[in-house]
Amino acid sequence: MPADTVITTSPPVEQLPKRELFNDAANLLLRAAAPERKLIIQGVIWLVVAALLETFGPLAGKYLIDNYLLPRDAQVPQIAALIAGALVAGMAASWIRFMQLTRLAGLAMRSVRRIRENVYGHVLRLPMSFFDRAITGQLVSRVTNDTEAVKTLYVQVLFVMLDSVIVLCGAMTAMLWLDWRLMLIVATLLPVVVVIVYAYQRLSAPAVTRSRELRSELNAQMAESIGGMPILQASNAAPRFNARFAGLNEAHYQSRQLEIRANAWLLRPVLDFMNVLLVCVVIYVFGSRSHGTAMTALEVGVIYAFINYIGRVVEPLIQITMQFSQLQQAMVGAARVNVLLREAEAPVAVAQGEVTAGGIAIDHLNFEYLPGRPVLHDIDLHIAPGSFVGIVGHTGSGKSTLLSLLLRFYPAPAGSIRLDGTPVDAIGEDHFRDRVGLVPQEPFLLAASARENITMGRTLSDEQVERAARAAHAHDSIAALEGGYHTPLGEGGARLSVGQKQLIAIARALAGDPRILFLDEATSHIDSETEQIVQRALTQLRGKVTIVAIAHRLSTVRDADRIVVLNHGRIAELGTHSELMAIDNGLYQRLYLLQQLEEEEPESAA
Ligand code: ATP
Ligand code: MG
Repeated sequence: MPADTVITTSPPVEQLPKRELFNDAANLLLRAAAPERKLIIQGVIWLVVAALLETFGPLAGKYLIDNYLLPRDAQVPQIAALIAGALVAGMAASWIRFMQLTRLAGLAMRSVRRIRENVYGHVLRLPMSFFDRAITGQLVSRVTNDTEAVKTLYVQVLFVMLDSVIVLCGAMTAMLWLDWRLMLIVATLLPVVVVIVYAYQRLSAPAVTRSRELRSELNAQMAESIGGMPILQASNAAPRFNARFAGLNEAHYQSRQLEIRANAWLLRPVLDFMNVLLVCVVIYVFGSRSHGTAMTALEVGVIYAFINYIGRVVEPLIQITMQFSQLQQAMVGAARVNVLLREAEAPVAVAQGEVTAGGIAIDHLNFEYLPGRPVLHDIDLHIAPGSFVGIVGHTGSGKSTLLSLLLRFYPAPAGSIRLDGTPVDAIGEDHFRDRVGLVPQEPFLLAASARENITMGRTLSDEQVERAARAAHAHDSIAALEGGYHTPLGEGGARLSVGQKQLIAIARALAGDPRILFLDEATSHIDSETEQIVQRALTQLRGKVTIVAIAHRLSTVRDADRIVVLNHGRIAELGTHSELMAIDNGLYQRLYLLQQLEEEEPESAA
């Protein structure tokens, strides 16, 4: 599959202007490394010391040649001292460098750990509207791969580059001191390197960003396929998905190839060649300078030292240019992380309003997800504390949306929803989540024990957990498991039936001691018998907890104090079951009769 047919859904990080990309990356690094600034400065100082010690080697060599070897003036103690000195300096330099680079690598790891925690924490605080457009695999890629790329930025790029620059400066200074004209010849290497780096950037930058993007696509597709495996297999979509994956994979391979080719051609070969060229030029200059006269002792030492230093200039330059490819990757990674970090978090309610009795007042509530496409129109609804209200209506009529607003998943227009007289957004987050429980349509269970699924990380005693489970009629099925409350339930609660999962989800909602309980089609998956159990659980809560239940199956809400019938985002009818049944040809009446027919059919067929 050619690369252009690959569907790319990543946000356009890649289109960020270069400067912004750089600022983003720099910001992220500075923030993450801030607590260890002192350590970084210490590390840099030690690296300078190591570079100075290293520079000493060739100088000692020159001294040895000029003063002892050429004059044939063998003074063993001095020569031995010189060699020993050079040896010790070299060893000390290596040791210092090794120690510092390991230490700095540790620091980088910690910084990345910090970034990763930040990113994950941030994702947890994002508003629900973000997840409407987020793609799981891509998010995972941001939190894992892209933060990893930021690590490279520290370990390889910053420290290796820093080290190289320090060594380079040391060598240049020594050369300047030995013979400044020759040093100038060596310095011509620098503009050449700038040109190479520029050419390299032009060539490989698009490939680097593209391969990051594709990697995240690969993750996204993987996550999606695993999540939807039953559908994938049932609709025989596996071959198509396979082909799409292969296409992505191929595109990824191609852009990586391009990167590697740019590395292979531009970096080492060109610079190695420059190294050889420079040595030739330096020797030639020496040769022509001493033309006619015999080479003085002094110059032999200098040429030895110079050739040595040229190597020390070229190697760091190679290192630096090579790091540019990593730098590219890391900056894109950092920018991608930053784009995520820039997503506005859901506002955390700090106000201290409280839910006490559980009364709900909805006034003139209008809502739209997308501008110009209203979903709810002028909803007015007052629910008394402890009452049981059912919400019914055709699919797409806005039932779940109303619940999402009551649960603060999306911000409702100011003042349109009040709980016990307090605007919903003025109730502290922790208190709100304790007092308002949700039982969703799809019971979401963690791959953990029954107990952990009920507590969800809250500190609850065993009695509290069991009381909640009993209230939800989940106790018997949990107690029947071989490990009771401590039995691992498998991923997504694979060991339980949907009805049992639903009861655990209800127990979870009750364990927080809620005043208000929302149920979104909590009974649509379970058989009539289990539904009766759930209903019994709900009946026992009546008067104590305000219950708002969306129900597809009308029998669930038959006994409700009031039933709200939504139609295209408006309240069409409102009343008790018998009141609504009395409306001739009313929406509720029609829905109810239709469902009765459906339920009777299988029986009459039998
Ligand atoms: P169902 O019985 O099928 O669950 P519902 O009554 O719960 O339906 P909602 O989920 O509230 O319906 O959806 C109401 C309308 O809002 C629909 O037209 C839907 O397309 C739209 N909608 C729902 N969620 C979003 C969203 N996150 N972004 C944009 N539009 C949405
Ligand atoms: Mg719904």
